[in-house]
Amino acid sequence: MKKKGRQSLSEPINVLVLDQHASSEKIKSVPYGLLLYWRRLILAFICLSVFLIVAVLFFASHNYFLLKSSERLQSELKEAREYPKQMETVQSKMQELEGKMEKVNTYLSKRGIERVTAEGGQGGLSEELTGDNIEEVLDQYNFYADSLHRDLSNVPLGYPIQGPLTSVFGIRSNPFSKRGIEAHGGVDIKAKRGAVVKAPAQGKVLFAGWKGGYGRCVVIEHDKGFETLYGHLSAIQVKPHQMIDAGHIIGKVGSTGRSTGPHLHYEITRHGKKINPGLFLKDH
Ligand SMILES: [Zn+2]
Repeated sequence: MKKKGRQSLSEPINVLVLDQHASSEKIKSVPYGLLLYWRRLILAFICLSVFLIVAVLFFASHNYFLLKSSERLQSELKEAREYPKQMETVQSKMQELEGKMEKVNTYLSKRGIERVTAEGGQGGLSEELTGDNIEEVLDQYNFYADSLHRDLSNVPLGYPIQGPLTSVFGIRSNPFSKRGIEAHGGVDIKAKRGAVVKAPAQGKVLFAGWKGGYGRCVVIEHDKGFETLYGHLSAIQVKPHQMIDAGHIIGKVGSTGRSTGPHLHYEITRHGKKINPGLFLKDH
């Protein structure tokens, strides 16, 4: 039995469905509310759908931006983590360079030559260093320091023995007859008999023995076409073909051969031509 009075919205009611020509008929049972408010229901459904789509799009884009900013933060964090590593590399390269320059300076001071100092200024080291190229510049300087050290140790720098120059390179009066002039192919360094003579550069002993007017004599071959000769020695302490480092003791001062007293006759030749050893000595 149906209740009298107002129809409930959820209660089904029977609807007679007729086709266009009323040739067939169907009876459908539909809720009363649906029949009454179908337009509003469809509108509500559309509104809800639009709202859901907008909400989904909003959250998706929000997530996208969150993802992007998290990626950016992660890459910044990675860079920040790498920064100390980069600084460590720069610092170790700087230390390497300092070490190499110290090595060059130690070498030079052993050879009696002034220290090399790196002074900043126009075109100097400090001007060229900028954040991005710092490692590259340091690598370059390290390379230069290496080749500087290599070149320096191959060039006969400084004195083979400490002492005053008693005769310079070039034309001089004959020290024996005191008459006339003669060409002096090297320099004479005054020193006591027996004082040690050291090689001013690394090289290979070409000759060690008696050589006419030079008396007991040593000739050393260096890189880049250099040869050095040490004359009037009282003792020879190297053998032919021996490889020696800079500072190696090659013999002792004497007065053998054509000599007026104990001194070292020191010659430098380059590609077979005698050059002034004074150019390689401090203060000369
Ligand atoms: Zn001489």
